[in-house]
Amino acid sequence: MGSVDHTTTNIEAEKKKITVIFVLGGPGSGKGTQCANIVENFGYTHLSAGDLLRAEIKSGSENGTMIQNMIKEGKIVPAEVTIRLLQKAIQESGHEKFLIDGFPRNEENRASFESITGIMPEIVLFFDCSEEEMEKRLLNRNQGREDDNIETIRKRFNVYMESSLPVIQYYDTLGKVRRIDAAKPVDAVFEDVKVIFEKVAEIAA
Ligand code: UDP
Ligand code: MG
Repeated sequence: MGSVDHTTTNIEAEKKKITVIFVLGGPGSGKGTQCANIVENFGYTHLSAGDLLRAEIKSGSENGTMIQNMIKEGKIVPAEVTIRLLQKAIQESGHEKFLIDGFPRNEENRASFESITGIMPEIVLFFDCSEEEMEKRLLNRNQGREDDNIETIRKRFNVYMESSLPVIQYYDTLGKVRRIDAAKPVDAVFEDVKVIFEKVAEIAA
């Protein structure tokens, strides 16, 4: 079933020159907030892997219960599930420039995305923030998320350190990582983000 989608996205990637920027960083580092700013100023389409998974739960799909349980435990959903949702969102949008937020979260996510879609990220935006600050933000944000409780937050931090940081390190060896000090206030962070996106726009022009 998946293989049909893979070919389509590969063809799409060549035909439409799809540009992808991965937006990574720990839970509560401000990925979603800054992505909204980037969309407004630089014309990207924002795809949050977490939001796509939460929508999949709500839609009552057969994977819903599995996804819900994994999110509650702070675990990473199997790559093929998340990638299918991302591919569908990319295709349905008809757009060419994407911010993929909160993915890839582990080596399996990263390698599968590369082999299935044939897409390499243009750059990887890395929101670097202390655990203390992230914890404070998560406990204060009140978005009604089942995983924003102290017990799950601790699990998410562990998964981030063990599985997600190595992905960022991998892209760093390829020279793709743009690190942002994400502990600053939202506006100050966006000033730094802007500098990076202005450079990306210059290179693309
Ligand atoms: N998740 C996942 N794969 C992804 C993105 C998210 O399994 O590619 C799950 C994972 O359980 C994670 C949760 O969804 O802890 C919430 O992710 P999201 O990016 O929405 O939240 P953040 O951790 O950035 O606050
Ligand atoms: Mg988020």
